[in-house]
Amino acid sequence: MNTSNVDLHIIGGGIIGLAAAVTLQAQGVNVVLLEAEKIDQGASLGNAGHLATEQVFPIADASMLRHIPAMLFNPAGPLRLDWRYLPRLMPWALQLLMNMRPEPFERIHQAILSLNQGSIQAWQKFSNQWQLNEWVHVEGSLLAVEKPASLNNLKTHGARLNNMGVTNKLLTKEALLEREPALQDNQLGALFFPDTGHITNLKAVINQLSATFIQLGGHIIEHCRVLAVTPSADSIHLTTSQGDISASKVMLAAGAHSKVLAKQLTGVSVPLDTERGYHLMLPNESARLQIPVSSMDRRFIMTPMQGGLRLAGTVEYAGLEAPANMKRAQMLLQQAQPMLKAPLDTKDSVPWMGFRPSTADSLPVIDKIDRVFLNFGHQHLGLTQAVVSAQMIAEYYFDEPHAIDPTPYRLNRFKRASS
Ligand SMILES: Cc1cc2nc3c(=O)[nH]c(=O)nc-3n(C[C@H](O)[C@H](O)[C@H](O)COP(=O)(O)OP(=O)(O)OC[C@H]3O[C@@H](n4cnc5c(N)ncnc54)[C@H](O)[C@@H]3O)c2cc1C
Repeated sequence: MNTSNVDLHIIGGGIIGLAAAVTLQAQGVNVVLLEAEKIDQGASLGNAGHLATEQVFPIADASMLRHIPAMLFNPAGPLRLDWRYLPRLMPWALQLLMNMRPEPFERIHQAILSLNQGSIQAWQKFSNQWQLNEWVHVEGSLLAVEKPASLNNLKTHGARLNNMGVTNKLLTKEALLEREPALQDNQLGALFFPDTGHITNLKAVINQLSATFIQLGGHIIEHCRVLAVTPSADSIHLTTSQGDISASKVMLAAGAHSKVLAKQLTGVSVPLDTERGYHLMLPNESARLQIPVSSMDRRFIMTPMQGGLRLAGTVEYAGLEAPANMKRAQMLLQQAQPMLKAPLDTKDSVPWMGFRPSTADSLPVIDKIDRVFLNFGHQHLGLTQAVVSAQMIAEYYFDEPHAIDPTPYRLNRFKRASS
């Protein structure tokens, strides 16, 4: 493969790789994107499409601990562990537990907040620039409750978020049902987050970004899996399923599959695992809701999209190799139906499973080390943070000052932890 005039090879064509590819190519960097499968697959296609800037706390929260046994033993619950995977998960899970202590929890929360704060504006600008406005909607989202005991938690949560600048408004049951008349009147109230958004067609966004990248002069090589990387003083040797490449610079954005390549590129073993998630797409239900509705009690989300209503959520610890358990996707129906007045049309529904790339501290790795750029591990928020992360990578690339303090996302936090 002749790649002598290429400035940067990006490994992974999900939303993280693609947003960075467009951002850099538009600034004159000659980029080649290497994608193991096809460009419009992976977590970036099947996620809930929620630009979830209001989610500013790590998923691993000490207050959750007492609920975990019940969740694990409830086959219809939001959390599932494949017990055969437990020995492999343990080192990651232990670090996750340690990060629930007050000091790391607060530090991680602040770092998520920093990334999320600029994410909506970044997406809006990106969307205007690259003609994505048809699909990128900033109309807000709702977090609803239906257990009377949850109403107080909702109020406290809303007040706490407002105090830190995550704007939200508490809606009474009446105001909620006025906004989303399809909801059942068992929904007792909700927080409305105006500065959040949703993407109504992820495939269209990915296709448009791919086409833009190519128009700008970038190259995409699909079905090109990077099997191994060997850095040397003046280049990085990539062994790929389509032959060898001598790369000048590399950005790793292989999502949940980044661990092995990150180790080969940097020598650091990042505590990266996957929190598998599911969705069920209901193609005849695209008009049921106006904006995404999450449930605090049921821990899942319903997002209206052009191709239907997407029910999404759940966390499953089972690694990258175990086959999908599509019952988990079907179970989302049992969560959604009681929240809605009229029966859902399930004809032609499509289940899906994908891999969230989750580090043990719930923060992505966004960094530059010599010729290597790292941009992976965005866990539950990769869509939300894709444009902001691309900007940070561009700042590293051009050696510009960072708009967001990059320290919490640097790789050396793990080096320190393991030394
Ligand atoms: C059910 C579910 C719901 C979600 N909902 C939301 C949401 O509403 N909002 C939000 O912000 N986030 C959400 N997320 C998280 C979000 O989808 C991810 O954080 C994001 O998609 C990660 O993007 P990525 O580009 O890093 O990874 P991916 O989309 O997985 O892309 C990585 C790409 O790298 C390729 N690759 C892997 N290994 C190699 C290799 N060796 N060589 C070449 N290519 C390789 C893969 O084929 C893949 O295409 C959700 C996730 C799930 C599973």
